[in-house]
Amino acid sequence: MSSEFALGSAYTLTHELGSGALGTVYRGHDQQGRAYAFKLLRSEYAADPAVVQRFIQERSALTAVQHPNVVRTHDLVVEGPRLAIVMDLVTGGDLRNQLTQHGPLAPADAARLMASVASGLTAVHQAGIVHRDLKPENILLSPTPEGPVPQVSDFGIAHIAETSGSTRTSVALGTPNYMAPEILAGEAPTPTADVYALGIITYELLCGLTPFEGGHHMAVIRRHADMAAGRPPGVPDPLWGLLEAMLTKAPTERPSTHDVAARLSALAPVLAAAPAAARLSEPPAPVPLGGTAQATMLAVPAGQSGSSTPPTASAPMASATPTAPPGQRKRRKRMWVPVIALAVLIAAITTAVLALGGNDPETNADPGETSSESTSPDSSTVEPATNEPAEDSSEEPSDDPSPEPPREMPEVVGLPLGTAMAELEGVEVTTIPEIHQDVPNNEVIAQSVAEGEDLPVSVELTVASQPATVYLAMLDEVDDRNMSSEGAQIDAEDYPRSVVGAWNSGYIEYNLSRSYQQLLATVGRVDSASDAADEVQVTIFLDQREVWSERVSVGSPAELDLDVTDALRLRIEYTSLQDNRSEVALGDARLLGVPGEIPDETDE
Ligand code: ADP
Ligand code: MG
Repeated sequence: MSSEFALGSAYTLTHELGSGALGTVYRGHDQQGRAYAFKLLRSEYAADPAVVQRFIQERSALTAVQHPNVVRTHDLVVEGPRLAIVMDLVTGGDLRNQLTQHGPLAPADAARLMASVASGLTAVHQAGIVHRDLKPENILLSPTPEGPVPQVSDFGIAHIAETSGSTRTSVALGTPNYMAPEILAGEAPTPTADVYALGIITYELLCGLTPFEGGHHMAVIRRHADMAAGRPPGVPDPLWGLLEAMLTKAPTERPSTHDVAARLSALAPVLAAAPAAARLSEPPAPVPLGGTAQATMLAVPAGQSGSSTPPTASAPMASATPTAPPGQRKRRKRMWVPVIALAVLIAAITTAVLALGGNDPETNADPGETSSESTSPDSSTVEPATNEPAEDSSEEPSDDPSPEPPREMPEVVGLPLGTAMAELEGVEVTTIPEIHQDVPNNEVIAQSVAEGEDLPVSVELTVASQPATVYLAMLDEVDDRNMSSEGAQIDAEDYPRSVVGAWNSGYIEYNLSRSYQQLLATVGRVDSASDAADEVQVTIFLDQREVWSERVSVGSPAELDLDVTDALRLRIEYTSLQDNRSEVALGDARLLGVPGEIPDETDE
């Protein structure tokens, strides 16, 4: 979108550069004409006081980081409904473009580039910030006469967004392809989580793919926890050794970014002769971590047990989770649709992993401990401690001496989803997010199978989600007459994002694309109304059905609270009863929906 708008009094934003999970990035300039990039956080973050508070707290830490390999953050701006991060404009694209256009890098080039990225990250860590969301999209390339210089962007922003009541965000923000197992398990990340991500990116630079990608994100998460990366052809020994260290599951055993930078720089000349490898179409098969118990338990459907997994066999996992064909690799944005659903899933998996493994999160990162603790006391078998429902397909006279009785569906309403999932172990659970402001995020609010029924193969759980908010004023209308987006004052209250009519009658219509669940507004005559005695009838239609109609006069606004679930069209009409020009406003009219299910609120 190319219409200019102001950010505070200091900046003018001129056009959109793109958008990601957390917001939209614009190009713009200050009053002196200096160019910057501006990241405007999504409205649900800007509307969340906890996020705003964290945003303000982090300002000085973020703006303090200065390093040639870091995108400089100049300012964090809170302006009315907006949270904006003002940063260097970097014009050479990002590492993702680079990879897409030119394919894998020669090992020496990858080492040099990632050494620079690692030194940039060292500066970030020295400021007390863990990046948390490192991926090729967040390594921008700054063109210089000596060639493109990589710069780390978006550090610390995941941490700000994570405060949001609407998500268990640390794991929900983006792709799990680069996320360290401890983050995926819900632990607080330490700087070596970034080293893990650096290791994954380096791996991708060398062969074109990340080691654990493919199939459902749950499968990706499991592989991060249970599998070691397969070695791609053409990666020289010393570089592979370093990569293995960076990808160690235990965070404390990984090298620091400082070490990584030094070792990669030292390696670059040694690798000079090694050519770039061919782009792989599928990652090399990941290798189960020493011992098979944990991986097998999680990967093999109920009733099967793989007591010995041959070294090459990631077979059970591969067949359960087909790798996406190469043509299916898209930019992440569109694939990561329901942020909440994802958060919920990950929470669930985390819990399921913990429940199955019986280990606590503290020790979860250590593969050695995990696999020894996760088997039942009789550790010669790899059966999960708890029985699966389908276990009775007793082809093989089971070595389990006491099969448990058939289970009943438990009552899980009111439980956090993770706990519910643990109780429903072995059952396929589908979650349906429903927005609730007053119910804790991820709490189960309904179950499709009643308590006491036979435990089914699959069950649907309705799960509370904090809503995301989109103001009508930020949506493009599909049609309108005598109505527009403006600020308004009703009964001495300011409603900066309102829909206002100021004629005898008029209407406005929006496409809701079945993406929202609730419409809220304060409907009233504006305080500056020219004919204060007039009354205005305001009527609302959803898909051409009248669902609400109220007569409002100065001093007596009406509260609008409508269920708009599944509605395609929203039409708002008003008519002055005296047939005067009579200003009426839907103050701060806003749609609530499940974060991630609603379309990007900005025009595209
Ligand atoms: P993501 O990192 O998930 O791709 P972002 O919201 O960070 O999403 O970025 C959106 C788009 O804006 C991307 O195309 C990115 O390259 C671009 N962008 C982000 N920061 C800058 C910047 N400082 N300078 C120039 N372009 C940027
Ligand atoms: Mg980014």
